[in-house]
This record gives sequence, structure tokens and C-alpha cells, in this order.
Amino acid sequence: MAKQEVKKSVVKEKGVKCTVCGTLKVPTLYVNATKSANNSYRFNKRLVSVCKCNEKEVYA
Ligand SMILES: [Zn+2]
Repeated sequence: MAKQEVKKSVVKEKGVKCTVCGTLKVPTLYVNATKSANNSYRFNKRLVSVCKCNEKEVYA
């Protein structure tokens, strides 16, 4: 008989709960395109934590 293996998997919530709305903040890559003077776009990539407070701004 094989020894019973007990695997413990600790699932830690990586997200931080928002103290305002209580939703788990989800890290989301937010890309903001800005047009520069010579008609080229510059992309600003930002990692933002999205909760109910700012999801409308981020996904707008
Ligand atoms: Zn919030």
C-alpha cells in the first residue's frame, strides 16, 4: 500500500479586497493610446487594480 499522500494546496488570494466596495481588485493591463503630433500612437501600458469603484473608468 502506498503511503497516503496529502497534498495541501494553499490558495492565497493574490488580489486585494477594496475597502470601499468590498470587491476583489483584479490586476488588469490598461492600455492607453495617445496620439502624438506626427500621427503615431503611443501606448501607455499600465497595470491597474480594477474593482467596482473604477471599473467603469477603466473599461470605458
Ligand atoms: Zn472599490
